[in-house]
Amino acid sequence: MTSISISQLKQECTKLLSDNLKTSSREISLELNQILLFVLKINNSQLLLKRTISKAQYEKIKKFVNVRATGKPLAYIFKEWSFYGRAFYINSSMLIPRPETELIIDILKEKNILKDNVELLDLGAGSGAIGISAKLETKNKVNLHLSDISKRCVQGIKKNLQKFDMQANVYLSDWFENIPNIKFDLIISNPPYISYKDPHLNELHFEPKRALVSKNDGLADIHKIIKNSTDYLNRQGFIIIEHGYNQKDEVQEIFNRYNFNQVESYKDLLGHYRITKGLFS
Ligand code: GLN
Repeated sequence: MTSISISQLKQECTKLLSDNLKTSSREISLELNQILLFVLKINNSQLLLKRTISKAQYEKIKKFVNVRATGKPLAYIFKEWSFYGRAFYINSSMLIPRPETELIIDILKEKNILKDNVELLDLGAGSGAIGISAKLETKNKVNLHLSDISKRCVQGIKKNLQKFDMQANVYLSDWFENIPNIKFDLIISNPPYISYKDPHLNELHFEPKRALVSKNDGLADIHKIIKNSTDYLNRQGFIIIEHGYNQKDEVQEIFNRYNFNQVESYKDLLGHYRITKGLFS
């Protein structure tokens, strides 16, 4: 059986990707590594020891690289993506989980917000990564509720619940529209918050616009969520919301307008205020 050297494969694929993508060479080498690990089903240290691959493995890797060269994000090619250290099922109706969103889980843990028997709603959950991770990161009992406006997201959320062997209530709902009359202790959301005018959108054209873009300079959905959450929160309940790197002041102002207390914002890994929380009291 013919075998092909990994260094030859890497050379070919690096050229293909750098000819077709605007991505940095560092990022290309990281992504290529991810493709190799995914296709060969091995870990990093095993890959380091490997010198050659079979023709069939070569063909499979080339196929993945060719699709990646069209710009399609790896998460949609693999149909999975990692969030807070776990691989979630991902489909093209979902926003790809971002590392900056992991900050929400850090805050929940650090501030000890996931008390026993908490009723938690992940609103516009997409893949369900935030709500599911929150429940997995505590020993306390969490009654989890997840919603999304997209049928394919709802199907995908159910797949992820199965994957993590978890019970939860899932709703097909435009924000609070079909949420039952429950009082929650915690509402979490990573809503669309990018303005239609944001040039950054061009780089995100594989992801669903509905999960990215919001009217009123990106603030319309955040406003709607915070305003309506007051009908669904228990007293002493929290809402935690992700927003754009330059929206902290506007988001805090919305929280204050609806009489939330202890309004606090938190910085992501790049030093941008990215998450704001408020207490309903
Ligand atoms: N943080 C994402 C981005 O800028 C957008 C996520 C969102 O709109 N919720 O790529």
